[in-house]
Amino acid sequence: LRYFDYNATTPLAPAARTAWLQAQEAHWFNPSSPYRQAAAVRVRYEAARESLAALLGLKGSAERVVFTSGATEANNMVLRHWARQLPSDARLGVNPTEHPSVMEAATAAFGERVCLLALLPDGRVDLEALDAQLQTGGLAALSVMAANNETGVIQPWQAIAQLCQRAQVPYHCDASQWLGKMPLSGLADCSYVSGCAHKFGGPKGVGFLLLPQAAQDCKLLYGGAQEGGQRAGTEDVAGVLAMLAALEASTPCAMPVLRDAFIEKVCSGIPNTRVVGVGADRLWNTVSLIMPQFQSVRWIRLLEKEGFLVSAGSACATGKSTGSPVLRALGIGAAAAGRALRISSGAETTAEDWDALAEAICRSYVRMRSEASASSS
Ligand code: PLP
Repeated sequence: LRYFDYNATTPLAPAARTAWLQAQEAHWFNPSSPYRQAAAVRVRYEAARESLAALLGLKGSAERVVFTSGATEANNMVLRHWARQLPSDARLGVNPTEHPSVMEAATAAFGERVCLLALLPDGRVDLEALDAQLQTGGLAALSVMAANNETGVIQPWQAIAQLCQRAQVPYHCDASQWLGKMPLSGLADCSYVSGCAHKFGGPKGVGFLLLPQAAQDCKLLYGGAQEGGQRAGTEDVAGVLAMLAALEASTPCAMPVLRDAFIEKVCSGIPNTRVVGVGADRLWNTVSLIMPQFQSVRWIRLLEKEGFLVSAGSACATGKSTGSPVLRALGIGAAAAGRALRISSGAETTAEDWDALAEAICRSYVRMRSEASASSS
């Protein structure tokens, strides 16, 4: 089977597997226990925090890193924290194509005070409109992801971070789909950054939140005083060491040539196929297609039979009858959103894999068309 759903999750990277197994063998003590073996685990764990901070451009500021169970938890932490800290009439600016773990958490915490940001037709946040809103003091905090999980559209998050710094408005960036695929520079300019290991070759159930230096009372989980008092619960030392190993081993690359050759092949083989986010910079590994005919689920099943694993919208949107909220926010109607295919590759995916997928998509189209015409005649 050829896997084209890396944005849902990635296989465990060899370096992460080794780090995880080693930690489970040698560093399984509770780092908070009062003996030497546990202290050694604590040292390893805190060194991992230092290393992650350094990778994110925060050398010497490891206390800004809180390890979590993933990006969902990190996103919820930020939004709950803001709801507690900001004035009761504060309005929150949110990119309308955020992952549900931001969108739902924002709605739960801020209700009608969520202000959806204006988008350009290609799916990027309209910077001019945002700047104007920030200048007039209309937004007390902002959440805009680095790159979208369904479309791969890259938000101008570096520019947003600068605008927010100037306006002294806290900025949260969900970098889940950015990490491991793109360079890490600039992330330290965001006040809050969330990420999760399983999108870049680490294990599931581990992630982190980068906090501003002075942030207090961010906790979602009450209990012990772990993670500087920001997150209770026994630390997942092996998970964290594996996450770090995966990030260190990832090779951010910005080579969209394979993706573009694939798009070219599919669009020339199947007329009226639409690529979502054209015009915007998009992740090199992600393609969101609106097929001219046939429901996503039919495509997915047929491609699976051909040996290719692809998805429709995000894994999180599977089962929603209204189609992907992300595509809907881009102005794509329900019927078209129901014909979406999301294809996302990994560092291991070869030109031959991409070619084979393009051919299988074209073949599947011909097959479904002939089945459709046979059944109508
Ligand atoms: N944010 C984005 C952009 C994602 O793609 C995902 C993936 O599921 C998440 C958040 C949630 O991450 P996790 O699975 O670690 O909770």
